[in-house]
Amino acid sequence: MHAIDIKALMAQKMVEEIEDYAVLLLDTEGNIASWNRGAQKVKGYTADEIVGRHFHVFYTPEDQEAGRPYRLINMARNTGSARDEGWRVRKDGTRFWGSIVITAIHDDDGEVIGFTKVTRDLTAQKEYTDRLRASEERYSRMVEAVQDYAILLLDTEGGVQNWNIGAEKLKGYTAAEIIGRHFRIFYPEKDQQHQLPEALLAMARLQGRAHHEGWRMRKDGSQFWGSIVITALHNDAGEVIGFSKVTKDLTANKKAEEAQERYLQQLEDRNREMEQLTYIASHDLQQPLRTITNFLSMFEYKYAPLVDEHGHLYISLVMKAAVRMRELIRAILEYSTLGANKVIATVHTAELLEEVKQDLHDMISTAGAIVEGQNLPVLQGYRLELRQLLQNLVSNAIKFRRPEEAPHVTVTAERSRNRWVFCVKDNGIGIEEAAMPKIFMMFQRLHSKDQYPGAGIGLAYAKKIVALHNGQIWVESVPGRGSRFYFSIPFTQ
Ligand code: ADP
Repeated sequence: MHAIDIKALMAQKMVEEIEDYAVLLLDTEGNIASWNRGAQKVKGYTADEIVGRHFHVFYTPEDQEAGRPYRLINMARNTGSARDEGWRVRKDGTRFWGSIVITAIHDDDGEVIGFTKVTRDLTAQKEYTDRLRASEERYSRMVEAVQDYAILLLDTEGGVQNWNIGAEKLKGYTAAEIIGRHFRIFYPEKDQQHQLPEALLAMARLQGRAHHEGWRMRKDGSQFWGSIVITALHNDAGEVIGFSKVTKDLTANKKAEEAQERYLQQLEDRNREMEQLTYIASHDLQQPLRTITNFLSMFEYKYAPLVDEHGHLYISLVMKAAVRMRELIRAILEYSTLGANKVIATVHTAELLEEVKQDLHDMISTAGAIVEGQNLPVLQGYRLELRQLLQNLVSNAIKFRRPEEAPHVTVTAERSRNRWVFCVKDNGIGIEEAAMPKIFMMFQRLHSKDQYPGAGIGLAYAKKIVALHNGQIWVESVPGRGSRFYFSIPFTQ
């Protein structure tokens, strides 16, 4: 056989064997001249059934009516080839999604002598892409409908690519006004000058994500406090192809936070003012008091012989009251300056208790008291103040003892989440529940001075010292059995 004939035969054989494509020859009118295995597989006809028939049988009635097969073949005749995609019909009436290329065959004179037609069944791909498109559409509809968040896509340079209802609500632009513009227009001028939007994109590009909170601009020039997350989007090769940007309006939270801060600041200012006032008042009160006691002493010294017994009694009563008043004023003065020079330090509370025991040595030995500490920690706090706090609680625990039992005082501490909780426990007279809120107030006492000495300031001091450490103080007690004073000191000061 001639070499060319062999080649032609091989080509014919090859086409016949191809399974994935329907490859046919059409004559100049569009009648089918040859048929391959792939064509049988795709369209369901055998060669005997189809050869000689016009190829429009593969088209849907609508396409046939619209003259689609004829248009395609004319296009191939005029331009050399025609491509198409669409639903086609198999022999059994079922449909498949075909991708078709019709190519004109010319003789040596350039006359069209027929056509090749290659059809590929893309139904599976079509279903897949349809499903994908549907899911994408559902997703983008969902994003579009989200009201409470502005959700946008940015291109790699920061140009806005899509827009949802939330974005329109929050920023005031319609999609038509904003798509294609750079997202920097949402930033106040100062942030734009500092290139904050660009910096955030760069961070998202580098780290995958960038979070920021700050003031942003609406279309009408008003501002809102936005919390923003920008996330880099990558293709399969790991290259950044754009960014998603989700913004939530936190203006209400921000305003509430600011109001709270303002309120706290006012409270602090007020407290400071009160303390200053107390300091000045008590300081100034001392002067006239000193005058009273001085002149009273002079009066007594100079006019003693002229005063009768009653007069002396009155003078001594006035003197006593003046001395007591001086003590009270000193107490207020000390209270108002408590913690004014506080210094944070590492405090060994077991050592503190030992010092307190030394200071209270006389009281302890007179009362025959046992004072012991257990599990006392090292912590960060104000040493001087903590020492005074312990001293007040321990001395109260000894002072308010029952006559029939020697005082036994135990100081312990326990860890509880982020703080130490101390307990000063005694076996003294105890406190009625109704009186508990009162005892931490200045000058509030439950007993007369003759019964138990004191000015009623120890627990007010204690409360203030605990507050300086951002802790709390409270008491539990069984009258006639004893009391437990608790106070907490947070780990971080
Ligand atoms: P003072 O000890 O000078 O009276 P405080 O402010 O220390 O002042 O205490 C206020 C009151 O609380 C005391 O007068 C007493 O009635 C009561 N109190 C304090 N500690 C104890 C305690 N450990 N046991 C019973 N009562 C106590």
